[in-house]
Amino acid sequence: DPRLQGISDAIRVVPHFPKPGIMFNDITALLLRPGVFKDAVDMFVERYRGMGIAAVAGIEARGFIFGPAIALAIGAKFIPLRKPGKLPGEVISETYTLEYGTDCLEMHVGAVEPGDRVVVVDDLVATGGTLSAAIKLLEKDTSSIMQCSHLSISTA
Ligand code: 5GP
Repeated sequence: DPRLQGISDAIRVVPHFPKPGIMFNDITALLLRPGVFKDAVDMFVERYRGMGIAAVAGIEARGFIFGPAIALAIGAKFIPLRKPGKLPGEVISETYTLEYGTDCLEMHVGAVEPGDRVVVVDDLVATGGTLSAAIKLLEKDTSSIMQCSHLSISTA
């Protein structure tokens, strides 16, 4: 797809952020270019429209930038997967291991209904640990088997 090159070029790589040795892929540069931002959203909308997707689950924080735009365009609900302590209702959580230490994602109980097909959205997949935790969390909220799919704007 010719749009991919433009999307890739619009992601700024920042060396040594947030710590020495990390090459950080900064999607805020892409957000400053409305045409490219639209291309990124459109590509996922084209992939998932008409597939019976009930929900788009966005991972805090950058999944909140792309997820709602995709959800609205495909007519799906949006489910925020948040860092601990942010959601006011009853939550379920999934703790996962990072390179150093652990992190946790939370979701409101009942956001997913049995049989919902869910697309998980984030900006970047590195080890896949965050994405795996998101899928486990979504599967905890329903007794029936759910099909989880994922996407990323960029992969490292
Ligand atoms: P993983 O769990 O796959 O190792 O890391 C992915 C998570 O870390 C995502 O939530 C993503 O937003 C964040 N992340 C890790 N590295 C980068 C990066 O270089 N750029 C951006 N934008 N996010 C990153």
